[in-house]
Amino acid sequence: DRINIAIDGPAGAGKSTVARQVAAQLGYVYVDTGAMYRAVTLLAQRKGIEPSQSEALRALVRDIDLQLIPTAAGQMIMLHNEDVTEQLRSREVTAQVSHYASNEHVRTKLGEMQRQLAEQKGIVMDGRDIGTHVLPNAELKVFLTASVEERARRRHRELTESNYVPLKQLEEEIAARDKLDETREIAPLIQAGDAILLDSSHMNIEEVVAYIVKLSQS
Ligand code: C5P
Repeated sequence: DRINIAIDGPAGAGKSTVARQVAAQLGYVYVDTGAMYRAVTLLAQRKGIEPSQSEALRALVRDIDLQLIPTAAGQMIMLHNEDVTEQLRSREVTAQVSHYASNEHVRTKLGEMQRQLAEQKGIVMDGRDIGTHVLPNAELKVFLTASVEERARRRHRELTESNYVPLKQLEEEIAARDKLDETREIAPLIQAGDAILLDSSHMNIEEVVAYIVKLSQS
């Protein structure tokens, strides 16, 4: 029988790569909820809305047209019929997303959308609060983490000359984002009581994927 799988954890733990591959192996649909928060951030930035402007954010998410399209490569995000998949990874969005993600209206709206997406079983959803808030009844919950040094090193290896950032700076940015996500009032980043803790510091992607696939079949 098809189940729902929640994969939560801090920034850079490899959630999206792992979740995408688990979904591919099981024939499930991958949902990247971080991309949804990033899309709200991009739209707010374009409209000049600050994270503190709660009423403006309420109206923004009320009228938002956000579509998640599963693809072979993962997930394409259409924002008001524009493909913003690549733009969502920009430094501007990354630096601000946790501030917008702490807004109650933003969380309520995106949480509703995420629950709807999971109504049909066979979803692998990655995020920060999937096992605790969005899908508390998910059949399998994994909390995927790794040391902040290792997470920064992995990001650092993916950089190219044009977007180069020193390792130390990446470490600081990741730690700052974790702190905001862990200390916000609504749905903070925390391991669900019934989630399986997986520290990937000394595991490669294939090992993590194989482990989760096995868990899903037991
Ligand atoms: O996973 P990703 O790094 O793309 O997430 C970007 C940001 O979106 C996180 O740092 C967090 O602030 C927010 N987020 C969240 N809840 C989720 C997924 C992401 O608050 N379920």
